[in-house]
Amino acid sequence: MAILRFKALEELHTRTPVVVENLGKVSGFYGENVFNRDRMREYLQEDVFEKVMAAVEQGTQLDRKIADSVATGMKAWALSKGVSHYTHWFQPLTGTTAEKHDGFFMPVENGRAIEAFEGKQLIQQEPDASSFPNGGIRNTFEARGYSAWDPSSPAFIIGATLCIPTIFISYTGEALDYKSPLLKTLTALDKAAADVGQYFDKNITKVTATLGWEQEYFLVDEALYNARPDLVLTGRTVFGHSPAKGQQLEDHYFGSIPERAMSFMRDFENESLRLGIPVRTRHNEVAPNQFECAPVFEEANIAVDHNLLLMDLMEKIARKHNFRVLFHEKPYAGVNGSGKHNNWSMGTNTGKNLLSPGNTPKTNLQFLTFFVNTIKAVYEHDDLFRASIASAGNDHRLGANEAPPAIISVFLGSQLSVVLDELVSKVKAGKLSPEEKTNLKLNIGKIPEILLDNTDRNRTSPFAFTGNKFEFRAVGSSANCAQAMITINSAVTAQLIEFKQDVDALISKGDKKDDAILKVLKKYIEVSARIRFEGNGYGDEWVVEAEKRGLKNIKTTPLALDALVSKKTSALWTSLGIFNEREIHARHDIYLENYTKKVQIEGRVIGDLALNHIIPTAFEYQSKLITNVTGLKELYGADYKKLAVVQLSTIEQISEHISKISSKVNAMTEARKKANGLSDARKQAIEYCDKVVPYFDEIRYEVDKLELLVSDEAWPLPKYREMLFHR
Ligand code: ADP
Ligand code: MG
Repeated sequence: MAILRFKALEELHTRTPVVVENLGKVSGFYGENVFNRDRMREYLQEDVFEKVMAAVEQGTQLDRKIADSVATGMKAWALSKGVSHYTHWFQPLTGTTAEKHDGFFMPVENGRAIEAFEGKQLIQQEPDASSFPNGGIRNTFEARGYSAWDPSSPAFIIGATLCIPTIFISYTGEALDYKSPLLKTLTALDKAAADVGQYFDKNITKVTATLGWEQEYFLVDEALYNARPDLVLTGRTVFGHSPAKGQQLEDHYFGSIPERAMSFMRDFENESLRLGIPVRTRHNEVAPNQFECAPVFEEANIAVDHNLLLMDLMEKIARKHNFRVLFHEKPYAGVNGSGKHNNWSMGTNTGKNLLSPGNTPKTNLQFLTFFVNTIKAVYEHDDLFRASIASAGNDHRLGANEAPPAIISVFLGSQLSVVLDELVSKVKAGKLSPEEKTNLKLNIGKIPEILLDNTDRNRTSPFAFTGNKFEFRAVGSSANCAQAMITINSAVTAQLIEFKQDVDALISKGDKKDDAILKVLKKYIEVSARIRFEGNGYGDEWVVEAEKRGLKNIKTTPLALDALVSKKTSALWTSLGIFNEREIHARHDIYLENYTKKVQIEGRVIGDLALNHIIPTAFEYQSKLITNVTGLKELYGADYKKLAVVQLSTIEQISEHISKISSKVNAMTEARKKANGLSDARKQAIEYCDKVVPYFDEIRYEVDKLELLVSDEAWPLPKYREMLFHR
C-alpha cells in the first residue's frame, strides 16, 4: 500500500544539489535572450527602429510594412540563436500562459525549405479560442479568436522558440485575456495622472504604473509530490496531519537556504536574468520549505509578463532539480500559505516617483495629491479590490491569521496619518490667511524627514503604504498580477479624473490652484476616513470594528466576485473604456466557473483518496489488529481482554472514523450532484461553496485522525513532516 511513499523517501536520500553553471558577471548575460532595444538597434533599419520605439512610448500603431521589417529582423536574430519555432505568448483567463508553436520553415518547390516569418505572423495568430475560457463570448459558430502583438513587451527566446507577447481577443473584439484590459488601464492612468501632474510640473507628460511583485512558493521533492495525487491534481494537500514540529520555532525564516534549494534558485535566476527579468532578492519564508523571490520593480505590463514568465521557468527548472514548485495559496493546512505582494506606484517621464515625498512643499503637495487620491480610490472601490484577489486558493488564506483579512483597508503609518489629520484640521472652507498657508506648507514640507525615520511597518494590512509605494498584500501566490493591476489602475484613474474636475471647479470659482488642491484633498481625506486602519488586521477586534464602520468582510470567492458586476464597477469600467458590459459579464462567469471547477476537482480527489487509499489502508491495519486480538484470545482464553485493551479500542476507533468518512463522502457526492445540476454559474459556485466545500474539512478531520492511529509503515501518503522538512 505504502510502496510509493517509501520509494519516494528512499529516493530522497539519493538527492544531491544539481551543479549550476557559473555564468560569471550578471551584466555579461543579462537580457541576452530578449529582443530588447539594443538588439533592435542592431537588427532593424534605423527608421523601423524609431517607429517601433514610438509605438512603444506613445502607443501608436505599426503598419504592415513596418511589421514586415521588424519580423525580418526578429527572425534573423532568432535564427542566429538556433531558434526553429515561434509562438504567440498570451494570457488566457485560465491563469497560466498559453502558446501555439509554429515552425519558421516553409516547404518550397523542389523539396527545399526556407525559414519564413513575416509581419502578418508577427502581428496576428489564430489560436483555437474555443479551448480557452470565454464566458460565452464566443459561440462555436464564430469559433475564432486571435492573438495580436504587444510591441511594448519585448519578444524573447525560450529553448528553441521565439516567444512574442500578445493580447488575446475574440473575433468580435472582446478581451479574452488579462493583457488587453491591463494595457487599456495603463493608457488611461497615464493620461489621468499626467493631467494632474501638470498642476505641479509642466514637464510631466507621461506617467507609467510600476509594479514590483514578491513571489512566494513552496518546494517539494518530486518523488514525494508524485506520491500525493492531491498535490498532482489540485496543487494542495487535501489530507495530512500537522507535524509535531511546525513553524513555531521560526528557525526557517532566518536560517540559511538549503543547498538543493539554493542551486535551484541560482539556476532559475540565471535563466530569468537571461530573459531580462531583474530578480534580485531571494530568501526563506515563514514556513518550512517556503521561499520568496522578488525582482526590481518595472513598468507594470512588463512586470506582469515577467512574473508569469518566471513562474513558468520555475516550474520547468524545478524538474531538473527533482523538485516541484507549489504556487498554490495554501498547499498545507496549518502552515503559512503563499501570497504575492504587489508593490505599486507611478513613475513620470521626468524620472520621479509620484508616491515618493520630495523635499519641498511643492513636491510634497504633489506627493500628497497622488497619495490621497489612491486612498480615496481604494475607499470608492474596496469591494472591487476584494474581488480582484478572489480565488478558491486564496479563500484558504485571507483572514486566516497569516494573510491580510478579507476586509479591505489602507495602512498609512502613524506619521502620515498625522499629516493627513492636520491637513483636515487646518484647511478651511473659506480663504486661507497667509500665516495659515505658511503653516500648512511648513507641515507639508516636513514629510520627507518624517518618513526617513518612519520604521513602522504593518504586515497585517491588505493595502499598505511603505514609504514610496503601496503594497497590495492580499494577492494570491498563483494569481496573475494583472487582475490586481487592472483594479488599482482603473480605480486610481477614475479618482484622478474626478480630482481634476473638483480642483478645476474651485479654480474657476476664483480659488488659487494650491488652495483648491488642498480643499479637495481635505474633502477626500474626510470622506475616505473609514478605509484607513492602522491596527492589527489579524485581530478579532478589527472584524468587529470594520463591521461598525460598514466595511465589507466577504470571506468566499463566489460572493466576492459580485463586485465585478455591480453598477459601480460597471460604470467605472465602461466609462474608462476598459471593458464593455458583455466583457464584464463574461469575465464574471469565467471566474465563477474557474472557482467551481477547482472545488469540483478537489471534491473528487478527496472522495477518491478517501475511498481508494485511506479506507483500504485503515481496513488493512485494522485486520492486523484483529489478528493480534484473536491470537491473544487463543493464547490466554478469557483473560485476553486485559491484554487487548489498546487494540480493541483502536479497532473500534478505526471503524468509527471509517464509517464517518464513508457517510460524509457519500453526502458530499450527493451535494456535488445537486450543484452540478444548476445551470446558473453564480448559483452553482455558491452551492459548491456553501454545500460541498464544508465537507472537505469534515472528511479531512477523520482522515487525519486515522493517520495518527494507523501504523506509519502502512500509511500511503507522504506525511507533512516528510514534505516540509526534507532538504
Ligand atoms: P518587503 O519588506 O515587503 O520585502 P522591499 O523593501 O524589499 O519590501 O521591496 C519590495 C518590493 O517593492 C520590491 O520588489 C521592489 O521592486 C518594489 N518596489 C520598490 N519601489 C517600487 C516602486 N516605485 N514601484 C513599484 N514597486 C516598487
Ligand atoms: Mg512585501
